[in-house]
Amino acid sequence: MTAAAVRPKARAQARRLGRSAWALLHEDSSRSALLAEQALDSAGDDPVARGWALLTHGFQQLFFATPAEAVPVLDAAQAAFTAAGDAAGRILAGSGLARAAWRAGRFADALELALSLRGEGLRVLRGEQRGVLLNAIAGCYSAQGRSDLAFAYMYEALRDAAPTRGPGHGLDAVLHCNLAHELLQIGDCHEALRHVDSGIQRCRRLNNPRLASVLWINRVIGLTELDRTQEAIADIHRICELPADASGRGRLASHFETLAIAALRAGETALGAELVARAEAAYHADIPDEHVELAVARALLAQAGGRLADALTALQPVLALAGEPPAPGLSHRVRCLYLLTRADLLERLGDAAGALAAMRQWQHVHLQRSALASRARYQAAALQTELLRLQQQVDEHDARRREIEAVNAQLSRRVAEVQALQERLRQQATRDELTGLFNRRHLNETLPQMLALARRERQPLAVAIIDLDHFKAVNDRHGHASGDRLLAAFGRLLATNSRRSDVACRYGGEEFCLLMPRTDALAARRKVAALLRRWRAECFDLGGARLDSLSFSAGVADSERCPGCETTLLKAADDELLAAKRQGRNRVFAADGPPPDVPAAA
Ligand code: GH3
Ligand code: MG
Ligand code: MG
Repeated sequence: MTAAAVRPKARAQARRLGRSAWALLHEDSSRSALLAEQALDSAGDDPVARGWALLTHGFQQLFFATPAEAVPVLDAAQAAFTAAGDAAGRILAGSGLARAAWRAGRFADALELALSLRGEGLRVLRGEQRGVLLNAIAGCYSAQGRSDLAFAYMYEALRDAAPTRGPGHGLDAVLHCNLAHELLQIGDCHEALRHVDSGIQRCRRLNNPRLASVLWINRVIGLTELDRTQEAIADIHRICELPADASGRGRLASHFETLAIAALRAGETALGAELVARAEAAYHADIPDEHVELAVARALLAQAGGRLADALTALQPVLALAGEPPAPGLSHRVRCLYLLTRADLLERLGDAAGALAAMRQWQHVHLQRSALASRARYQAAALQTELLRLQQQVDEHDARRREIEAVNAQLSRRVAEVQALQERLRQQATRDELTGLFNRRHLNETLPQMLALARRERQPLAVAIIDLDHFKAVNDRHGHASGDRLLAAFGRLLATNSRRSDVACRYGGEEFCLLMPRTDALAARRKVAALLRRWRAECFDLGGARLDSLSFSAGVADSERCPGCETTLLKAADDELLAAKRQGRNRVFAADGPPPDVPAAA
């Protein structure tokens, strides 16, 4: 095989690997990472294969490492997709970069970048890919405290990611996780826990420990908010056991401070202390929530040791972040947590005025949270209504389709009936009912055409007129019904003994007519004589009476010996029939006339 033949094959293989890596991003994170690596190794300078491999790798960095590590990879992915002219890949890489900006605490930049992708993205992306963009926009709004818009985008993304066709790639589990996070921001903890459960359920079929750990963290937060921290301890241990690399919870936003608060509120001081230490050692981007939660965790730890003044001191450094106005990006949930902890400490320290001021601030934030919550609930209800309306449209459409199908079926049946009826009418118009042979009307229509054809082909057309002998006597002796039986039997004999090109007719009464194309009078005479022998050999049992040796008389003529119109031909045959009758019946006469091609005058 030549090198040129290998390269396109290897390139196609690398592209397949890259795309599979991306498709497996949420479904199986370790396999996705492995495939991305293999795709990069074999991609060479192919921008498409490189694009998908780098995109996957960049998102993995976003989950398991730091934004600083993710950004150059996503930049390279975006450059590859731009070179390949792949708009979908370019927009997905942009979504990753927006996410990296918000992860690094640059919330306004993140939102601006995400929104700049929206128009083209909604046109270009489909299904789960569209869900990835919408989810990124939702995340940016969430980080800005715009829960209402975050919900709108998440629900929309959930609709795109819903595994309606096949098992899907796990983006729905991510969205359940993010919805839970957002519901926690507005204090709708029960609903949040429901989404956590849906996500965990879905996660059981995925190999994505990072996603599982974020779901557990959200459960811990929900349980803490509901003052059910004891139930959160098992999740805390589970999260801590996951390794801090790409096979576990990763290094990015490990949330030990969140877990520490839960443990301390549950009275697990030793665990709390350990988690505070881990939180202090962990990587922190410049995220206000993380700073404030770490301060609260330190305060709770000091409080648990009876050091109330130290506890208040621990809260002090983040007062500027959580006070009025709050730092951009600080969530309502964490601000409420801070203000409550502060109010509680001030009260314990006997500073009633300070405690009241903190409570007033808390109340203010709580009201904002409630307003967001009611808007979000309205949005969820509106979405539900829209989904119901869509479903209704689908149902109505189905019902209409079924109706149309039923009408169509009925129509087809009617058409078939009419066609059958027409066929019957046509048969009735051209067929004789008793014998099933053609009738005289058909003969009158057909004979001129057959004569014209015979002339064009320079071939003779023979006509035989057959009249059953002494038929009146049969009727008289055995009854009309027996006569009918004989007529039908003769019809069958005529039909079975004529060629497909012959036309057998009942001429009227007990007279029959046989048209034989490409046959001259002599051949026709032989044929009709053979028919006579067969008819004579037939034997009938008519109500006990045996009837055999029946006969007929026939006259034959052909179009070459008797040239002229159909009347001439029929008359010539009829004359022969009369002659046969006169000469004793039971015989076939043919009009011999002058031989063919010999002019009559010669
Ligand atoms: P010949 O040998 O001279 O032809 O004698 P014939 O009795 O056959 O001829 P004739 O013309 O005298 O009688 C024809 C008979 O055929 C009279 C009629 O009752 C009978 N016939 C005509 N049509 C039908 C029919 O549809 N059914 C029955 N059963 N008889 C019919
Ligand atoms: Mg007759
Ligand atoms: Mg007769």
